[in-house]
Parts: sequence; structure tokens; C-alpha cells
Amino acid sequence: MKHPSHDPNCIFCKIVAKEIPCQKVYEDDEILVFKDINPAAPVHLLLIPKKHIPMLESVTAHDAPLLGKMLGLVPRLASQEGCRPGKEGGFRVMVNNGADGGQEVYHLHLHVMGGPRPWKK
Ligand code: AMP
Ligand code: ZN
Repeated sequence: MKHPSHDPNCIFCKIVAKEIPCQKVYEDDEILVFKDINPAAPVHLLLIPKKHIPMLESVTAHDAPLLGKMLGLVPRLASQEGCRPGKEGGFRVMVNNGADGGQEVYHLHLHVMGGPRPWKK
């Protein structure tokens, strides 16, 4: 189903609308989580809001609970997908924001990377 704030030219909105397939890991009414198509680590997930928020500058106070919920999901999904617990394990959470931040897809997303090293990046 298309989210009300769907951008028809956005690849992640197309994934939300199921116009493009993904390897889904988690979904609720406002968040979708899927595997990165070009993983940089053994575990590489993307957490996205279903609504089209282009980047951090676009976030409003209204979105704070949504972003908090996304961050709160990270540890559970990371371990569910194979990130190891404790000091020897863990994961990296990353947001690429804007051109200088290396952002390629302008629909806000959290990268979650983990698993045994070495990683590609
Ligand atoms: P960035 O905007 O720099 O944070 O990077 C966008 C990320 O989205 C990259 O890691 C891509 O591999 C990933 N990506 C792009 N298209 C898809 C797709 N159709 N399914 C899953 N991941 C994707
Ligand atoms: Zn979008």
C-alpha cells in the first residue's frame, strides 16, 4: 500500500509500496526493515520510515517518536539477523546525510551493520 507521503520517484517509497521487491526483515504500520542489496558487512540492514522523509533536515518534532522507535528496534533486529551479542559482537548504526555524507537514496534510512570482521567498508 502507498503511504500518504509517498514520492513516486523514490526507490524506497517504491519498496514500501511493494512496486520493487526487498528482503524484508521487519514491518509495522510506520517502519520497514530490509536487507541492503549491496551489503558492506555480513549483516547489513536498512531501517526506513514508511513515510517519505528525505533526510535529517526534513525531520520535524512530530517525527521524534518515530525515529525513537526506529532506534529502539535496532538491537533486537540486529541480533535476530545474526549480529553477535556482547563486547565481542555488536553492530554499527549509520546515517549518510547529504552529498558530503555520502547519501545516495534521499529517503531517510538507518544502516545497521554487523557480523564478524573484516567488512567491505
Ligand atoms: P546511502 O543513501 O548512501 O545511505 O545508500 C543507500 C543504500 O541503499 C546503499 O547501501 C544501497 O546498497 C542500498 N540500496 C539501494 N537500492 C536498494 C534496493 N533496491 N534494495 C536494498 N537496498 C538498496
Ligand atoms: Zn521515499
